[in-house]
Amino acid sequence: MTDAAVPQQGNPNAAGSTGSGHTGSARNTLDVERVRADFPILHQEIYGKPLAYLDNAASSQKPRPVINAMTEAMESYYANVHRGVHRLSQVSTDHYEGARETIARFINAPKSDEVIFTRGATEAINLVASSYGRAFLKPGQEVLITELEHHANIVPWQMLRDQLGIKLRVAPVDDDGTLRAEAVTELIGENTGLVAIAHISNALGTIVPLQEITAAAHAKGVPVLVDGCQAPPHQKVDVQALGVDFYAFSGHKMYGPTGIGVLWGRWDLLKKMPPYQGGGEMIYSVTFEKSTFKEPPHGFEAGTPAIVEAIGLGAAVDWLSGHDLDAVAAHEHKLLAYATERLSAIEGLNIIGRAEPKAAIVSFTMDQAHPHDIGTIVDRAGVAVRAGHHCAQPLMERYGLSATVRASFGIYNTEQEVDQLADALQVVKELFG
Ligand code: PMP
Repeated sequence: MTDAAVPQQGNPNAAGSTGSGHTGSARNTLDVERVRADFPILHQEIYGKPLAYLDNAASSQKPRPVINAMTEAMESYYANVHRGVHRLSQVSTDHYEGARETIARFINAPKSDEVIFTRGATEAINLVASSYGRAFLKPGQEVLITELEHHANIVPWQMLRDQLGIKLRVAPVDDDGTLRAEAVTELIGENTGLVAIAHISNALGTIVPLQEITAAAHAKGVPVLVDGCQAPPHQKVDVQALGVDFYAFSGHKMYGPTGIGVLWGRWDLLKKMPPYQGGGEMIYSVTFEKSTFKEPPHGFEAGTPAIVEAIGLGAAVDWLSGHDLDAVAAHEHKLLAYATERLSAIEGLNIIGRAEPKAAIVSFTMDQAHPHDIGTIVDRAGVAVRAGHHCAQPLMERYGLSATVRASFGIYNTEQEVDQLADALQVVKELFG
C-alpha cells in the first residue's frame, strides 16, 4: 500500500502479501506444505533438529500475512482510532473497524457491533462476570461450570461468588474425559443464573455438546457463555448455529497476535449490560456530575484499544478463511488418530482423555518420568510440547494428577512431526523405563 489506503476486507491476502489462502475448488484440500511456507518461524532447527511445534493449544505461530499486516499498519497508516480528523486516524479506524467486520463474518455474528475487542478470552470472560454478572445475577443464584474448565472460566466466577454471594455448581466429566450433555443439563434448575462452559477442553481436547446444553439452558431461560478459546482455529464456529449467548476467544491461538481477543454477545444482552471499565472512548459525554456511555461495542472498549493487534487478528481471520475449515479439521483429526496410535504403542504411556469427539490434543503421562522431564527431553529432539497443569488444576485433580504432557496440533503440523515426538518419547522410555 503506498498511500494510506482503505482496507480490503474479506480478501485472504488483504495485507498485500503472499499467503496460502486458496479460492475456488482448491479450497477443499489442505496443502500442508503450502501452509507451512507461510510460517517463517517453522523453518528452523532447535538443538540441531527440525522444529516440531506441538504447543498450539497454548499459542500458535503467525503466518506472514499477519506479520505483514501488522508491520504495514505501523509503517504506513498507524494513528489512534476514532478520535482524529486527520487522514491517518481515519485509515487506521477503517482498518480497526474492518477487522471487527471480518471477525463478525467469520463467526457468523448477526451484526459486527456485537463483536467487542478485549485483551483475550480471559478479559472477555471477566467482562461478562463483571458487567452481566453484577447487574443480573442475584445472591443465591448459581453459575454452572464444568470440571474441565480453564482457570479463566473458574476464577472470575469465584471472585463474583465472593463479592455477590452467588454459588458455583460444577458438572462432572467422565473418566475418559467425555462431558455428557446430561451431566450439565440435569444441574440446570430454578436457581441457575448462567451456564459458563468451554467449547473444547484445552487440557484433554474434549469437544463439548454445546447445542444440546444450550437448548436445555434456554428452555429454562438461562443464558450460556462459551469459553471458545480452542475452537475457532480448528473448526467452523457459527455463533447463531450454536445458539449461545456469549462466545469468548483469543487471537493468539488462531494464528493472530497476543493482546487481542473477542467477546461476542447477543445484541439484546450487550445493550442492557452496564460498562465494564470506564475511561476515554467509551463515553458520549462527561461532566463532574455524570457521564453517559456509548452503545456496544465501543461502550465496552475503554481507552486506546490494541489497534495493531486487532488489525493483525483481522488478517489472521482472513488468512484462515482462505482455507476450508472442514479440510483443516479433517487434517488435524488425522494427526490426532495417528498420534493416538503411535503414542498408545509406547509401553507405560497413558493417554488422559479419549472423548469422542475430540480435538487434536493428546494429553499423557509416562509411568516413570515426570511431565517436566519428558518436556525437557523431547525439547532436545526439537519437539515443543507443554508440560504442566494447563491452567486446569481442578481437572488434573479429578484424574489424580498434578500435571500431564500435552501435544496439541494445528493447521501446519505433519505426521513426520508425530513420528519425531514418538521417537523422542522412546528415548524418554529408555532413560526412565
Ligand atoms: N480458555 C481456554 C480453554 C484456554 O485454552 C485458554 C488459554 N490457554 C484460555 C481460556 C485463556 O486464554 P487467554 O490466556 O488467551 O486469555
